[in-house]
Order: sequence, then structure tokens, then C-alpha cells
Amino acid sequence: MPIDAPEIIYVDEDTESVGCDGGGGALGHPLVYYTFGSSRSVTCGYCDREFVRGTPPADGAPIEIHQTTDR
Ligand SMILES: [Zn+2]
Repeated sequence: MPIDAPEIIYVDEDTESVGCDGGGGALGHPLVYYTFGSSRSVTCGYCDREFVRGTPPADGAPIEIHQTTDR
């Protein structure tokens, strides 16, 4: 099974904490909460998802999107 790049989840700028349960399914894990505190991002210790406050960059950072190429 290939190892996927950690997912980046963007949340509102004023979000103080996030909950992560791995998205359920095979990759799920117990629901845990992370507090941003003074940092702009937190990384889930279970599933390596990164939660970032703010909006996704328009381009630059590689965000994996599964899209069709027929158009
Ligand atoms: Zn997680």
C-alpha cells in the first residue's frame, strides 16, 4: 500500500482548536483535539494530517487533487 503524502486541512484563521479522527474508515483513529495556541499549524500525531489556519495558497504548494484531464 503506497504511503500518501500527509493531507493538509485548511481551517478558518480564527480557529483555536481542531478535532481529528483520521476521517474514519481504515485510516481512522480515536478522536483527538489539537489546539493551535500561538502556532499557525498543528500536525495530527495519529495520521500526520496537518491543520493550517488560513486559506490555501493559490498556487505553489503542491496540493494533491484527483481530477480528470479530459477538459
Ligand atoms: Zn488524525
